[in-house]
Amino acid sequence: MSSQVLSVVLDAPLDTAFDYLWVARSETELAPQPGQLVLAPFGRRQTIGLVIAVKDSSEVEPGKLRELLQVRGQMPPLSDDWIALCRFAAEYYQRPLGEVALPSLPKGLRTESTVALDRALKKVAQAQPQPTTTPETSVQRPQLNPEQQTAVDAILNTEGYQAHLLFGVTGSGKTEVYLHATERVLQRERDADRRAQVLIMVPEINLTPQLEASVRARFPALQVVSLHSQLAEGERLRHWLAAHIGSADIVLGTRLAVLSSMPHLKMIIIDEEHDPSYKQQEGLRYSARDLAVWRAHQQQIPVVLGSATPSAESWLHVSTGRYQRLTLTQRAAKNAQLPKVRVIDTEINKAVDGFSPLLLAALKLRLERGEQSLLFLNRRGYAPVMHCDACGWISNCRRCTAFMVLHKPERRLRCHHCSLELRIPSACPTCGNVDLQPLGRGTQRVEEYLQQAFPQARVMRIDADSTRRKGSAQAAFDAVHRGDVDILLGTQMVAKGHDFQRLTLVGVINPDTALFSQDYLAGERLFAQLMQVAGRAGRAAQADVNHDGASQSEVLIQTRYPQHPLYQALLAHDYKGFADTMLAERRSANLPPYSFQALLRAEAKNLQLALDFLAQARTLMPHPGVSINDPVPMTITRVAGIERAQLLLESTSRAQLQAFLRPWMRALRSLKTRVNWMLEVDPIDI
Ligand code: ADP
Ligand code: ZN
Ligand code: ZN
Repeated sequence: MSSQVLSVVLDAPLDTAFDYLWVARSETELAPQPGQLVLAPFGRRQTIGLVIAVKDSSEVEPGKLRELLQVRGQMPPLSDDWIALCRFAAEYYQRPLGEVALPSLPKGLRTESTVALDRALKKVAQAQPQPTTTPETSVQRPQLNPEQQTAVDAILNTEGYQAHLLFGVTGSGKTEVYLHATERVLQRERDADRRAQVLIMVPEINLTPQLEASVRARFPALQVVSLHSQLAEGERLRHWLAAHIGSADIVLGTRLAVLSSMPHLKMIIIDEEHDPSYKQQEGLRYSARDLAVWRAHQQQIPVVLGSATPSAESWLHVSTGRYQRLTLTQRAAKNAQLPKVRVIDTEINKAVDGFSPLLLAALKLRLERGEQSLLFLNRRGYAPVMHCDACGWISNCRRCTAFMVLHKPERRLRCHHCSLELRIPSACPTCGNVDLQPLGRGTQRVEEYLQQAFPQARVMRIDADSTRRKGSAQAAFDAVHRGDVDILLGTQMVAKGHDFQRLTLVGVINPDTALFSQDYLAGERLFAQLMQVAGRAGRAAQADVNHDGASQSEVLIQTRYPQHPLYQALLAHDYKGFADTMLAERRSANLPPYSFQALLRAEAKNLQLALDFLAQARTLMPHPGVSINDPVPMTITRVAGIERAQLLLESTSRAQLQAFLRPWMRALRSLKTRVNWMLEVDPIDI
């Protein structure tokens, strides 16, 4: 019977592939191919591996090899393109291929038993829709406006790869462009008798139901599946398989969907491309947006990046001609207008309990008119810290360099960094004073105030605390859409993407802290957040919500720095002005996107150990074209009792940085150290 030597990668921190022997169990068993999953013995355990090559058996001594336990032949192999994508991600982010490829697969594929897989395959095969010849001509779709039409045509007119930056103000109908482009790409491929799939990515799980509903309504005859981390395991496996065997026409997902297997991929859409959620912040710290662009290039297909506030990188790519800019300048819905943005100078219009008289009056007016308001405060909990007036005690976390946050409804002090929870002390732990004070305010405190100030109003708070239960976020957003809420209050969760139809007032309570942050990305993020949240107002036709003669919807920003250029750009809805200034500043400071960065992080029980390790790493080898900064403690130095430090690497050449990282990583791996370390390429949190 035949046998073969296979090169297999495993989910292990080893930058090598392993050779295994495969022996046919019967005359008819087919030899495994690259891309197939196998069950392999590894040390004393068994693990799932991915075959990446069939070896010439003359190169190895088969006698010394361990034999594969199982080949998952019931599933088609992963394609060479998919392996190439994982390989690129592995090389670029400096991780072993196996640690990229295998964890990207649903858990049901990575277990020893094939019961779940066999069951899912059966279900997916049954779910195959009848092939339709003409897709759904009866479905209602709005007539595109000329700008939308131009955008769709431009996307369809490109041959092969092209990145399009769909730069459209909030409410300009970017979704409609995605849907039309999707429809036409699928139609075109079908007409040419080719199979086709489209990947649509959104930054936030809470946005998938809204988009999924639109997509399903538009394409009732197509198979649409979602992929995100909140799916139950069985569901995730079925959706993944539907994409992999090609029965799913449209895959809708969050960042993890970028590594899904889609053999007939013909277009990728990335909504809100600037959103930091596209960056994975643990494990393989990849940028799903960047990988998506790479994947589109590899497949020679168009990729559409949509945003009202594009990332600095994408804006730069437009100016150098790498991306094509498609602009939507107007709100799409009939008579809908951009809201009027105003700043409230809290030096003059003093805020009491977080609210200036102007903001209160505006809220009152909306309540009287029966319109919705949204209040944005990017800080959850009741108050960020508790404090004793008598002795100066403050609620420090004993395990972190951070405060314990007061959560009043839960009657807890909580550390948002290590999850330590304590009961709220009834008296000061140092002096016994029973009158402990909350300092500052978070969403819970604002909610409490609103309930007192407007007892008749229906107030809904949406933040990570109020939506812990599965499905609760969706229920809350549904209530807002139904009109069961007068005042919606929340963190950035409420700022993103939602198409609230009855909202005419947005109030921003205290955005100033980000203005003076050390983080060079803070300004860009704040601007995008405020533009997004402002964009939730006035999305419907004015006549639908306003009573006769009512003014247009408005956005009120409370600030002590009303003249700050960031707010001034916001008032003018001037992303372009803001972005051009930002890029000029980045260029002169040699910051991304004009330079490329990597960050080596070290963690240890003792800060000096971490710093020493980084100092050693810094002098390990010559680094032409790459500058390495001094090791420094991280801003939040201690988390859960572990001290953390970092080393920043910068280069004006991505290639030079990459060329240095590879051998450097190898050298680092061979160091003997008690320090826990990790490397991040293109960090966004430094
Ligand atoms: P964006 O994603 O750019 O913020 P949306 O895609 O959510 O905007 O669209 C905003 C609103 O405009 C939606 O209610 C949508 O139905 C409506 N809309 C989009 N395109 C058109 C059009 N061509 N004519 C009329 N209404 C439209
Ligand atoms: Zn005290
Ligand atoms: Zn803590």
